[in-house]
Amino acid sequence: MRDAVVVGGGLAGLAAGWRLRHWDTVLLESGSRVGGRIRSERRGRYWLNWGGHVFAGPGTSTDALLTEVGITAAQVPGSLKGLAMNGKLLLEGRIESYPFRIPMPLASRVALVRTGLKVGGQVLRYARIVRQRPGEDPAVRQQRVYDFQNGRSFRDFVGDLPEDADALFRPTVTRSAADPHEISAGAGIGYFSLVWNIGQGLNRGIVGGPSTLTQGVAAALGDRVHLGADVVEIAHTKRSVVVRYRQDGADREVEARYVVLAAPATVSHRVAVDLPPDIREALGKIVYGPYVSAAFLTEETTPQPWDTAYGIATPKRSFNVVLNQASLVRGSETTRQPGSSIMTFSPAGLARTLLEKSDEEILRIYTGDLEQVLGSGFGDSVVESQVQRWETGAPYCFPGRGALQPTLMRRGSRVLLAGDYLGTLYTETAIQTGFSAAQEVASLLATERQQRRVTGLPLVAG
Ligand SMILES: Cc1cc2nc3c(=O)[nH]c(=O)nc-3n(C[C@H](O)[C@H](O)[C@H](O)COP(=O)(O)OP(=O)(O)OC[C@H]3O[C@@H](n4cnc5c(N)ncnc54)[C@H](O)[C@@H]3O)c2cc1C
Repeated sequence: MRDAVVVGGGLAGLAAGWRLRHWDTVLLESGSRVGGRIRSERRGRYWLNWGGHVFAGPGTSTDALLTEVGITAAQVPGSLKGLAMNGKLLLEGRIESYPFRIPMPLASRVALVRTGLKVGGQVLRYARIVRQRPGEDPAVRQQRVYDFQNGRSFRDFVGDLPEDADALFRPTVTRSAADPHEISAGAGIGYFSLVWNIGQGLNRGIVGGPSTLTQGVAAALGDRVHLGADVVEIAHTKRSVVVRYRQDGADREVEARYVVLAAPATVSHRVAVDLPPDIREALGKIVYGPYVSAAFLTEETTPQPWDTAYGIATPKRSFNVVLNQASLVRGSETTRQPGSSIMTFSPAGLARTLLEKSDEEILRIYTGDLEQVLGSGFGDSVVESQVQRWETGAPYCFPGRGALQPTLMRRGSRVLLAGDYLGTLYTETAIQTGFSAAQEVASLLATERQQRRVTGLPLVAG
């Protein structure tokens, strides 16, 4: 019998596997690569990126994992607050000035200023809500964040807006993978705090690309990582857990004292058949929205206006943001070198429209829009491009989501949950919940081992 099985090789599972590496463990991943919703590939000095791209900073679980594994991350030098709308590209200046610098009808401008003040006031409140209080259990803080304005949707909070005002708010809110009527008001406000980088700080890039971290952890875990291992059922026996999976066309099973279940909530709900019914029911209520993303490698030889930007919001386009994945490279240069790496992504409703189309069609639409945003020469400079579909792109906080949290956080079986759906900070939540599950498992295993030594009896922890 193994000490622990980790199910899922995304950031949550890898973080758990890393912290349990001194125990007898295996990590089962259904895909042909580790990383889950982290996916980047190196291309010379650049990297293409299709998944998570900005990470939490000093003092976080992300920082701890990066440091322990020996991976370098740095604050992205480019501005996160670019905006391309109605033919205008804004890369600097205060966000409050944007409504006056983008051409738009007066009604939209007035609505923007009014709603901007309303959202801005709540963003400041959110920043206080999100702050960790001295001596506070992080779970208490997380519950407070979920409960913030969780009774209504963001759409209900801002009300009906004229077209341009609505278009300007939409890219920030929908980065969550939910449209404004789907996400809670508090989570929508939280997204402005995140993107404006007030208090939470998802603003670090990983040198070499995000997969440098996931592949680094997997390399350290070596042959404990089993790819193509599709877990179909996890069931308790009296003193262990049996994980059944399919690999290479065969049914297999592995028995362990504990399981860290780090698959998305939809999968966890399906495979963890004997979890306490209320926990299983809560897992079934987690909702994910889709993303479509694409990566473009370019070979332009001259400096570009967008070199100083990291994120450019793009209202009224097929994607809602352009992300300059060469930003860290730009920051390390004294002379601008040829080439670049651009990522686009389309969440929620934008993704649902694109998911029906072929990759070629998506790339054609994206390239057309990129030419409008970044300049007419963009298409000619592209040397490689590739689309990624994420049907379960991200779990979002819908009205009422906060009520599920106490149930989801309750422990008591030999199956411990981990994953980004357990909190509101994406990669940081994934890593933090992976660490936390691993810590609990290691503590239980250590107690059991000690008990066995003292009594000289076979293991009897129940
Ligand atoms: C386009 C995009 C942009 C994003 N941008 C950011 C960002 O900038 N910053 C940020 O913090 N977050 C971002 N995110 C979110 C971030 O990527 C995720 O929050 C995080 O990677 C989730 O990690 P996870 O381990 O919880 O889940 P996952 O990465 O989904 O890992 C779950 C793993 O379980 C495996 N699995 C599923 N079913 C089974 C099974 N039956 N058996 C075995 N294995 C199974 C999956 O293959 C997967 O590898 C983004 C996501 C996307 C898609």
